[in-house]
Amino acid sequence: MISETVAAPKTVEIAVVGAGVVGLATALRLAGEGREVLLIDPNEPGSGASFGNAGTIAEYACMPVGNPGVLRALPQLLLDPDSPFSLRWAALFQLAPWLTRFVRQSLPAATRANALALAGLLAEALPAWGEMVQEAGLQDLMRRNGCLYVYRSERDFAASAGGRAMRAGLGVHQEVLTAAEVAALEPALAGAAKYGLFFPDSINVSDPKGVMQRLLAAAAARGVQLLRASVTGLAVDPGGVRLTGPGLRIAVRKVVLAAGARSRPLAAQAGDRIPLETERGYHLEFPAAAPLLNRPVCPVDLGFYMTPMDGRLRVAGTVELGGLAAPPNPRRLALLDRGVRQFFPQLGRPTSEWLGFRPSLPDSRPVIGPSHRSSAVIHAFGHGHLGLTLAPITARLVADVIAGRGDAARLAAFASDRF
Ligand SMILES: Cc1cc2nc3c(=O)[nH]c(=O)nc-3n(C[C@H](O)[C@H](O)[C@H](O)COP(=O)(O)OP(=O)(O)OC[C@H]3O[C@@H](n4cnc5c(N)ncnc54)[C@H](O)[C@@H]3O)c2cc1C
Repeated sequence: MISETVAAPKTVEIAVVGAGVVGLATALRLAGEGREVLLIDPNEPGSGASFGNAGTIAEYACMPVGNPGVLRALPQLLLDPDSPFSLRWAALFQLAPWLTRFVRQSLPAATRANALALAGLLAEALPAWGEMVQEAGLQDLMRRNGCLYVYRSERDFAASAGGRAMRAGLGVHQEVLTAAEVAALEPALAGAAKYGLFFPDSINVSDPKGVMQRLLAAAAARGVQLLRASVTGLAVDPGGVRLTGPGLRIAVRKVVLAAGARSRPLAAQAGDRIPLETERGYHLEFPAAAPLLNRPVCPVDLGFYMTPMDGRLRVAGTVELGGLAAPPNPRRLALLDRGVRQFFPQLGRPTSEWLGFRPSLPDSRPVIGPSHRSSAVIHAFGHGHLGLTLAPITARLVADVIAGRGDAARLAAFASDRF
């Protein structure tokens, strides 16, 4: 059940700006620790990127988006509008600073550092999810069948060697599968893959929207108030932070910025210049096709997941660099449609088409922790491809910052002044 909208109270202890999975998990966590929390979002909670993702809790995904393999292929990828990592050329000027940083972060040493930082967070992703599942009663929405990458050519499998070695070195549990072993796990893929890479510990959700609704209900049950408003102004003062927006004027002791891909202007008002951009991603849904697969499957060369969800198969992924304003690109949706039909030509027409905005930093690390200007502003955004996976651990870290607990040095890799 969606919590009632409240009128803005005059002052509150903590405002969480943005009710995506990161804001919802954080509000729930803080309320569970007895904090007074106001969650602010102009839109339906959980209706942003958190609504349409592939549903994987990808604790294995420590390989940053920017890495030497992507760097080698980058010109070809960006020039091909049908590649899994494409660019809307109209946005090139706006994206040039981000792309320049992305290229630097794709060099070997930076890739290793970014993977190490991500792996540190990801190692806690499953336990943190376990706590949140209990807290919000999500048990029936969780699937525990692992996750599968499939490689359709010897060349693609060979190209994955660096990634496999890196994950192995960082302690990720992964198993190389033969074509026959892939078919044993996923009979519908018999003959379709030369190799698989199985992540047996991974879990996934069967309905991201359902998860968001439960998180909101659990937060509301712990006293979190929801205010349907857009925050456009943020000013730090000695007593805390003043937040303003159309019809909004409120003083808070602390604010958590969790506005996903739209966090950048708010962070800037707190004094943090953060190179946040969006990696646009798409999904299609095919009704009644869920039984085709037993777990999320990613054909690595195509850059999307096929995830069986409640009552449908969701095909979600690919990257389009192109900013927040451009309309959905039908060509990207057609690409997903053609891609999934290479495995399942019998599928009917998709019933849902969606574009979402991943909040992405060039180094693939989120920004978590206090603003370097004021401890009253705490950042919790920029989770890129891993926001669903990392929401509960982010919530825990934010709660630790607010309570003055934990090892502050641990957050150095996610600091707002690292750029
Ligand atoms: C195709 C696709 C597939 C993906 N698959 C996965 C996956 O399998 N696993 C995984 O872990 N991650 C996945 N992701 C990434 C994940 O969905 C995101 O990282 C995550 O949803 C980000 O959550 P968020 O709460 O930061 O942002 P969002 O969910 O976008 O929420 C941000 C909220 O902030 C609100 N807001 C914005 N501006 C303001 C403002 N000024 N004032 C108040 N509120 C504001 C918005 O209305 C929105 O509700 C995928 C993403 C895409 C696009």
